[in-house]
Amino acid sequence: MPDASSVPHPFSDYASPVYEMAVRQFDTAAARLPMDPNIRERLRHPARAFLVSVPVMMDTGRVAVFHGYRVQHDTTLGPTKGGVRYHPDVTLGEVAALAMWMSWKCALMGLPFGGAKGGVCCDPKVLSRAELERLTRRYASELTLLIGPEVDIPAPDVGTDEQVMAWFMDTYSMQKGYAVPGVVTGKPLGVGGTLGRREATGLGVAHVTSLAARAAGLSLEGATVAVQGLGNVGATAARHLAAMGCRVVAVSTSRGGIFNPHGLDIEAACRYYREHRNLEGFSGGEAVSNDELLALDCQILIPAAVENQITASNASRVKARIVVEGANGPTTPEADRILEDQGVMVIPDILANAGGVVVSYFEWVQDLQYFFWSREEIETRLRGIMDRAFQRVMDLARKEGVSTRTAALMLGIQRIAEAQRIRGLYP
Ligand code: NAD
Repeated sequence: MPDASSVPHPFSDYASPVYEMAVRQFDTAAARLPMDPNIRERLRHPARAFLVSVPVMMDTGRVAVFHGYRVQHDTTLGPTKGGVRYHPDVTLGEVAALAMWMSWKCALMGLPFGGAKGGVCCDPKVLSRAELERLTRRYASELTLLIGPEVDIPAPDVGTDEQVMAWFMDTYSMQKGYAVPGVVTGKPLGVGGTLGRREATGLGVAHVTSLAARAAGLSLEGATVAVQGLGNVGATAARHLAAMGCRVVAVSTSRGGIFNPHGLDIEAACRYYREHRNLEGFSGGEAVSNDELLALDCQILIPAAVENQITASNASRVKARIVVEGANGPTTPEADRILEDQGVMVIPDILANAGGVVVSYFEWVQDLQYFFWSREEIETRLRGIMDRAFQRVMDLARKEGVSTRTAALMLGIQRIAEAQRIRGLYP
């Protein structure tokens, strides 16, 4: 039997650069708050983590076993909430970081949720539709004991969409014996989804971009925008910003992007991407790499792909005046400092991309009440919540002399810390 000192700390299993980054961001913000050190220690660790094997019968007749995860970071305020990612780089550490960010995001937006995240390490682009369905149903089935409308509510993220959520909802419902629409959000409308969920994150990104531009004294009319990641978030944000008068000069996918200083036809680029699964050969602009895109001459930069994109090695080349984080964790703490020194306004992920979880909250409320709202009601409530959060973050950043990221984290962390103080420590 090993002595206690040789047993690895259980949370060393999360070790990954992105998890360390999330904890460093937490430490920076928590240090500015008058917080009980015992509560601070509790918040640095995810409450629960699940590892599951996902055996899938491939179309060839061979069984492949994928690794799946679900991490529930904090359960103080209510059920946990967070997306499910299908991507070849998914690790337990990445999922734990994303779960922690979800806690601060939900708390910042005033939602009655803790943070969670899930993922399966796989490449959905090479799976057939039937394989994707079998993988989703088996993963959902393994999670059945851990999720539910009052427990933990998954949603789409990178590599998953409405159809994946419909399979999730069906698998859970079949095991229960009755329809449970509230078990996931981001579902199709026909099975209890909400109006406006598909566009919510990108619409929210576009809306906070307009608030940030106004605060920075920049007119949106003709403002140049580069968007990294032409998925659900990036494509919707690009479309809305183009409709608001911006000139979207560059967009990209994991295989690189396209640039046109006169502005791109976003609808044509999205159509081309849908048909070809990449932008290579699209005639509306010249090819750029993802790294070149970040350094383009533009006023607004929207990273909307994955973590760790703006780093110490490229931050000094960012020319944009405003960076709006559509993605979770696209900027490292070192890059944050460089951008701050360059006077770049950063709208942090937990504020910028919170539109998705806010409308997910609306979807969950509607599912629990079996009573559905109009699109206008949803978009008006979404804008109201985002306006208030944006103002609170800007006010606190100014008052405390901290970055907008630290201010946003402080507001989220403080709300959960206060709830933990009131509830006390069990047992
Ligand atoms: P998606 O799968 O719809 O699209 C992701 C896009 O990013 C694709 O175009 C993909 O080709 C591209 N991409 C992947 N890896 C890349 C890389 N290394 N470099 C450049 N591009 C790359 O995913 P999504 O739902 O749009 O999510 C994008 C980001 O937004 C993620 O960080 C996600 O966590 C965050 N987010 C999503 C939601 C939501 O509602 N979908 C909500 C909040 C935050």
